Formats: sequence, C-alpha cells, structure tokens
Amino acid sequence: MQQHILVILPHPDDEAFGLAGTMAKYLKNGDKVTYACLTLGEMGRNMGVPPFANRVTLPEIRKKELEESCQAIGVTDLRMLGFHDKTIEFEDQDHLDSVILSLIEELSPSLVITFYPGYSVHPDHDACGEAVVRTIGRLPEEQRPIVHAMAFSKNTIQVLGEPDIHHDVRAFLGQKMASIQAHRSQFQAAELLGNKTLDDKEIQDRFGTERFWTYRFD
Ligand SMILES: [Zn+2]
Repeated sequence: MQQHILVILPHPDDEAFGLAGTMAKYLKNGDKVTYACLTLGEMGRNMGVPPFANRVTLPEIRKKELEESCQAIGVTDLRMLGFHDKTIEFEDQDHLDSVILSLIEELSPSLVITFYPGYSVHPDHDACGEAVVRTIGRLPEEQRPIVHAMAFSKNTIQVLGEPDIHHDVRAFLGQKMASIQAHRSQFQAAELLGNKTLDDKEIQDRFGTERFWTYRFD
C-alpha cells in the first residue's frame, strides 16, 4: 500500500547521511515523501573548502544545495519552513507545534521521520524531534503516525537499546552519495570515497544501512 512519509529535520544536510537512502528506497517503492526542513542552516560554520560562501551568501547557497540534494534523492515535495538556524530550542513552542500539526493534517502521513529527542547531539536536532513527538503525542492514539527517529549520542544504545529499524540502502548509494555531494559547502564528499567506488565493501558497510528507533509514546 502506498504510504505518505513526512520527514521533519532542522538543517539542510541532516538528510544526507542518515536517511537519503531510505527516502530514495521509499520513493522507489512508490511511496510519497515530503521533506520539511526547518531552517536554511544559515549559522553553519563551514563555508566550503576552499571557502566559497560567506555569512551573507550562505543561506542562499545552502538552499540551492538542499534543492540539489532532494533532486538527487528524488524528493519533489520539499518544504522550507523558514525557522532560524541554531534557535529551534528557543522558538515559540506553540508556533513550532502548529506548523508541524498543519503539515500532518495536510498530508496525513502514516510515517514521520525525525531526530530522537535527547539523543541527537545538536540542540536543534533535539528540539526538532521534541516538537514532532510533542505534537503527535497530543493526537488521539489511533490518529498518530508511526515515528521513526535517528539518534547519534554516545549513550543511545545503552539507554534505548539497538535500533529496531534497519534499512538496507546499498542499492541507493548513488543517490545517497549525490545527496552528500550536493552539500558541498558542508562536506567534502570526494574524501569520503577516496579512491573507492560505491560497490566497494568498505563503502557499502559504512553507508549501506540506515538505522532508526521507533518512538514509543507511552
Ligand atoms: Zn543538523
């Protein structure tokens, strides 16, 4: 059955390493994917190597990189929500929650993917995940989409246990690498690959599985 998947993340490039392959895989299966990105990452410290962005041009450059990444993955429904980078935790919660709620009401996703609040290292990541689960948690249980969350903090496995969702995305490494490559102000994709190709076992082991924890509301 066709599903609608709603991805909600705070920064352009948050999609690249963690779920570009997963999005490409869902799209290949005929599912719909909407990617809502809260900010333009305009406070990012990286300006490219060698630098080609500056404080003034960075938001526009990152917006283009995000669009290029989505194109590489195949995502056609990209929503840039216009929140300010590095300040998600200080946003008016009611406003943030209402923006998320209206996306959920508009799209009726069966699955929402975000960061696991408290286990995602960057305050924007945690605040984004927090807002998503807070908003969904308020819905009547039978109306709640499933939430798959990405987590990175060192104590994740110790506290949450092993991730319960593993997506094999080896067949989608072309899209995933193109997504990473699109964010050229932030990453040096060529260095990740070195002289290896996408069918190299080391590359497949490193990038070929994407992991998520199903969020439990109880
Ligand atoms: Zn981020």
